[in-house]
Amino acid sequence: MRSLTIWRTLLGVDKAVVEGIDLDDDSGDLIASVRSTGSMRNRCGACQRRCPRYDGGAGRRRWRALDVGTIQVYLEADAPRVSCRDHGVIVAAVPWARHQAGHTHHFDAQVAWLATQTSKTAVTHLMRIAWRTVGAIMTRVWADTEELHDPFAGLTRIGIDEISYKRGRKFLTVVVDHSSGRLVWAAPGQDKATLGTFFDALGEERSALITHVSADGAAWIATVVAARCPNAVRCADPFHVVKWATEALDEVRRAAWTEARKHARQNESRTVGRPAHDAPPRPSSDHARLMMNSRFALWKNPENLTEKQQIKLAWVVQTNPALGRAYYLKEGLRLVFKLPHDEAAEALDKWIGWARRSRIPSFVKLQRSIVKHRTAILASIEHGLSNGRVESMNTKIRLITRIAFGFRSPDALIALALLSLGGHKPVLPGRV
Ligand SMILES: [Zn+2]
Repeated sequence: MRSLTIWRTLLGVDKAVVEGIDLDDDSGDLIASVRSTGSMRNRCGACQRRCPRYDGGAGRRRWRALDVGTIQVYLEADAPRVSCRDHGVIVAAVPWARHQAGHTHHFDAQVAWLATQTSKTAVTHLMRIAWRTVGAIMTRVWADTEELHDPFAGLTRIGIDEISYKRGRKFLTVVVDHSSGRLVWAAPGQDKATLGTFFDALGEERSALITHVSADGAAWIATVVAARCPNAVRCADPFHVVKWATEALDEVRRAAWTEARKHARQNESRTVGRPAHDAPPRPSSDHARLMMNSRFALWKNPENLTEKQQIKLAWVVQTNPALGRAYYLKEGLRLVFKLPHDEAAEALDKWIGWARRSRIPSFVKLQRSIVKHRTAILASIEHGLSNGRVESMNTKIRLITRIAFGFRSPDALIALALLSLGGHKPVLPGRV
């Protein structure tokens, strides 16, 4: 009997009794027969309320528990049914696992911790489960976490963003807490109704406490925020504004590349295979290739450029004046966000004038959007809504969407994102 008590501690089963331990000869798995202690018996699986017993259920059931050494462990118990006032005839709750889960609480907790800390391969190999199972576990762990902790507590400054995944075919709307830098909410979709469900969950009272909302300037976000968050100052995310400029620059780069390629095509084409040593040079083709390869130099922030990219950039500016101007326009706009608020307004207006006269169509167009969002842009500078925070959150969520590709439902993806980037991270079982 003493050894069975030790097994209870070893298996981490609270409020349960270990009745026996056996090794399955075929599989080599350890099977622990368990049953709930008195107070935990005959409770509804959904609401935990004590209910009259209905029947013995469909025989013995197994739950995967944490391994002991290298051996897989299963808990085995009867699965009687109870008759709940609200939930009808339902399988009784067990203290060691979530309702309808095939894994114990400890197993779930360890998977959740691993999924937020390590690679997909590490989780699936170490725990010996499929990636889809990880998705199901994340969903139920998040459901419990959400019930225990209020992710909206003390929310005043938020950022709303839309993120595409599955190669741009699906979208998530996400809400970030600017004060703590945490992800507080996410849902599939990118429309007014989706964002509306966030404010429904937040409630009218707490929506009124929101002082600042930053967003990417999408009209559907602005409309919902104006209606649901009457007291909030609307700010434009510097990150998105700089991204617009990068896109405008890219349009110029692509046009320059197409032009260069057209020139290159007029060159005599080479025969298949490695060119001879004495083959004549093809300056236009080289030009086109260099233009193609310059895109990283143009995209990166100048302080992050490698020496090679700096040389490439200097070459682009020299050989293609329009592309050079576009590059400085992008950089100029990025600099505006680094200025103190009192200087930023003047600098932004100067930038607008510069872009308007640039004769580069994509920047003339961008300048119009900047004028439209001028107040929101200056508000974000005045209130110091961190650019880096939104940008790094955006990058991290993108990374998670890539990892979560094999999950069946968007719920699992969102659960993984909220558990990884939210305020309440999973902890390993047995540790605080
Ligand atoms: Zn119930």
